[in-house]
Amino acid sequence: MKKNSYDILILGGGASGLAAAISAKRTCIKASVAVVERLSKTGKKILATGNGRCNLSNTDINVSHYHGTGSCLLKMTSEFSVPDFFASLGVLCEDDGYGRIYPRCRSAASVLDALRLECAKLGIEEICDTEITGIEVRNCFVLKSANGEFYAKNAIIAGGGKSQSALGSNGSMLDICAGLGIKITAPYPALVPLKTDPAFVKPLKGQRADANVMFCADRKCVSVSRGEVQFTDGLLSGICVFDISYLYEQHKGSDCQLRIDLLPDMSTSDVEALLKTARDIRSGTAPDDFLSGIFTRALGIYVLKKALHKLPETTGKIKNNDITAISAVIKSLTFPVTGTAGFDRSQVTGGGIAADEINEAFGIRHIDGMYVCGEILDIFGDCGGYNLDFAFSSGAIAGRNAAIRAARK
Ligand SMILES: Cc1cc2nc3c(=O)[nH]c(=O)nc-3n(C[C@H](O)[C@H](O)[C@H](O)COP(=O)(O)OP(=O)(O)OC[C@H]3O[C@@H](n4cnc5c(N)ncnc54)[C@H](O)[C@@H]3O)c2cc1C
Repeated sequence: MKKNSYDILILGGGASGLAAAISAKRTCIKASVAVVERLSKTGKKILATGNGRCNLSNTDINVSHYHGTGSCLLKMTSEFSVPDFFASLGVLCEDDGYGRIYPRCRSAASVLDALRLECAKLGIEEICDTEITGIEVRNCFVLKSANGEFYAKNAIIAGGGKSQSALGSNGSMLDICAGLGIKITAPYPALVPLKTDPAFVKPLKGQRADANVMFCADRKCVSVSRGEVQFTDGLLSGICVFDISYLYEQHKGSDCQLRIDLLPDMSTSDVEALLKTARDIRSGTAPDDFLSGIFTRALGIYVLKKALHKLPETTGKIKNNDITAISAVIKSLTFPVTGTAGFDRSQVTGGGIAADEINEAFGIRHIDGMYVCGEILDIFGDCGGYNLDFAFSSGAIAGRNAAIRAARK
């Protein structure tokens, strides 16, 4: 065997690449397996997940939580249990009561340690500080890098998307795959804050509100999500915004808006009744305090100013038709959507290697011996552990299939 030559070479040492390596080596212990990683260490992004707590799976893994042409690939991972995989690495996982699965110690570092320890135990080589810059398909795969060439009988592409390139995934692997004739759906930021007119959010900077968030295109509702909206510098953020942010890509030629229902559990008439009671209770106070028992003061004042051209001297002077106008704003506080905060603020990348390039073994149809896993595929999930679950499970299955092929040859 040539120097730098492997039975299975994994390109990218993130969640999917490390799972692929472990699974490959467990399937065929004789196979030589290595992971090539452009950063100085593997798994950097894992450390940032779930605010350092690593939400690695969910009790409700099903296709309704995934987007992209690759959603059909989920059936190939349905038999794989990510919590069981981590149990086999000695990591105890638990459901947080909302279906989100975390390591019990809530530490992303212990998840990464467990993966690295298993790689070391199995004799998997880690080749860091090495960016793959090109792939040639000869009688084996020839992987180019500034540190020289590597040779592999089987290659697993696990290079991630373009999100948060400081954590590793810079999109270079997508370009390399396109060069091999692999069809790529144009990448776009997903699970990302949405941009709005800065003047609209400036008075709300730093505010948060539990709400229903509706994404509208050309005044029609496309999707609704529930959770805490966060208002920051020119951006609308929070998990409920992240989960529908991909719709901007699909509707970006249209008039896009976010309509926020600030009291989603109440009907319009219930809101009006609530406001009339609040008016009676606070009748002698300045209108600035009218809504401060329902919303934060800043949000209450913002709502009033949106609804009324001129504020009366006291709350008691707010008329019934003003109440109707205030209630309409509370039920549909509207912001134009002018873009996303971009790849460097996105948690995942939409687009990527198209599903019809992939066979049932996570292999590239027209390149025998080349497999793909993780976020580089045209699939992403909602917030809640869906993305790591897919990265680990697709990685494990691609690794197993590469090892089965390696053992046959
Ligand atoms: C801040 C943040 C928080 C998140 N939190 C969660 C969460 O709690 N739960 C969840 O489910 N998902 C979460 N995600 C998403 C999840 O982390 C990713 O979907 C998942 O890590 C993707 O794994 P991957 O292995 O496919 O890609 P990546 O983790 O991106 O790994 C790809 C690896 O390939 C390497 N690489 C790329 N190109 C090359 C090259 N040319 N040569 C060599 N190496 C290369 C990169 O350096 C990188 O290490 C979060 C993402 C972010 C950014």
